[in-house]
Amino acid sequence: MTTETVKQAIRNIPDFPIKGIQFKDLTTVFIKPEYLTWLRQQMIQRYAGKGITKVVGMESRGFIIAPMAAEAIGAGFVPVRKPNKLPAEVIEQSYEKEYGVDTIQIHKDALNSEDIVLLHDDLLATGGTMSAAIKLAKKIGVKKIYVDFIVELDALHGRDKFDKDIEVHSLIHF
Ligand code: AMP
Repeated sequence: MTTETVKQAIRNIPDFPIKGIQFKDLTTVFIKPEYLTWLRQQMIQRYAGKGITKVVGMESRGFIIAPMAAEAIGAGFVPVRKPNKLPAEVIEQSYEKEYGVDTIQIHKDALNSEDIVLLHDDLLATGGTMSAAIKLAKKIGVKKIYVDFIVELDALHGRDKFDKDIEVHSLIHF
């Protein structure tokens, strides 16, 4: 199994969800057990031994690999969700989208100052979602932050939005 094999398995959907967006559909990767195993292995190779205590997944496509990775490296899983989904006390962060503003939330007691955190999403586009998640982790004051994606759309330069002290990794680049 190579990165190229998995890259080839990603389905391109033109003009979804709106005209002009080329949607990278990873369901065609997740459906194959051997690709799930490969993704899991890649996470273990990169992140085991870094002392990561929590893997934080972004709603909703970040919920697929993040718990697998968490279990594999002996960390807990924490969801970041859209407003009014989490039942206990939350902190939130708003961010600019192409049209309008969006907000994400995390349980206030899900992370603490002792945590080494891996923030994960399926795809990095403009970086708005992930930079809001980084702000949430920083508001709580965690010890260290790693940022991880399966896919990065290089032309959008999303990673330029992240603070330079944060290690960012994507497995597959378009
Ligand atoms: P952004 O905040 O612009 O980096 O967008 C990242 C979020 O939107 C991720 O949760 C992705 O799942 C989703 N997303 C944005 N653009 C695409 C795309 N072209 N294909 C698939 N998902 C996308």
